[in-house]
Amino acid sequence: MFIDEYISGVAPIRGKILLVDDQVVNIKILHQLLQTDYDIYMARDGHQAIDMCKKVKPDIVLLDIEMPMLNGFDVCAHLKKDPDTEDVAVIFVSGHFDEDKEVKGFQLGAVDFIHKPINPVITKARIKNQMMAKSQTDLLRSIALLDGLTGLANRRKFDQVLPVTWLQCAREKQPLTIILLDIDFFKHFNDTYGHTEGDTCLRVVAQKIQDTVNRPYDLVARYGGEEFICVLPNTDLIGGTYVAQQIVDSIVSLKIAHINSPISKFVTVSAGVSTVVPMYDMPNKILVEAADKQLYLAKDRGRNRVLGCLVEENT
Ligand SMILES: [Mg+2]
Repeated sequence: MFIDEYISGVAPIRGKILLVDDQVVNIKILHQLLQTDYDIYMARDGHQAIDMCKKVKPDIVLLDIEMPMLNGFDVCAHLKKDPDTEDVAVIFVSGHFDEDKEVKGFQLGAVDFIHKPINPVITKARIKNQMMAKSQTDLLRSIALLDGLTGLANRRKFDQVLPVTWLQCAREKQPLTIILLDIDFFKHFNDTYGHTEGDTCLRVVAQKIQDTVNRPYDLVARYGGEEFICVLPNTDLIGGTYVAQQIVDSIVSLKIAHINSPISKFVTVSAGVSTVVPMYDMPNKILVEAADKQLYLAKDRGRNRVLGCLVEENT
């Protein structure tokens, strides 16, 4: 998927709003006002609000300030501290105008204030504006993690995903496999056909890898120039090697002409696979280093092939 398709594909149709108020009547009023345009969720106290934010990931929270136990400020501070919820747009709903309170709210990271009793037109307009700002920010954030040429995840996204996947597999005592792929003799390809054709080749190969690695929790990223990396949680070495071989075979079957490749008439790739059952105290870079070593060996032994290894606990 390329950037332009991506942009047209992800425009949110309906935003999600969480209404938080200890008074049912206030929730009812806002619900009535907003339900036709947005998906509405509700919470009656601060703890519930935090739980709901983690669960439903709303775009906007309309947050009452005056609540027993955890008040709105406490909830906002909590949401902004947690990476899971820090991106939510908080709009405070306050019983009366109080400049000091507004200052405090903005300092805590709120994006706007609405006063009760709410004015329906103003409230709707402000929420619409914030929803637009939120969706544009979300879009920029996701584009920043995409590779512009191939539309795959980029290196930054990989650097974000690997530690999270590592911890998840460590927690579940599940194997984690990565596949490092490199197009064989890509410099020859560029020298022969030019960089425009080189770019096309990268796109086609990227798409093929993405099509082959298709479980929802797998990640395929462009790792460097003509290098790609796959992160496969809950996958052992046999499974990972199988996937890598499928990729290698599928690239040959594309029959992209490469007349100056010393090993084939067509574009080929080499793959290094490494698998580990992660431990919390292991650095995750050992997995990448191991795959890199296997990739090097695969190149050394003739390219267009897969080599893999298990990373042991004490390596
Ligand atoms: Mg209240």
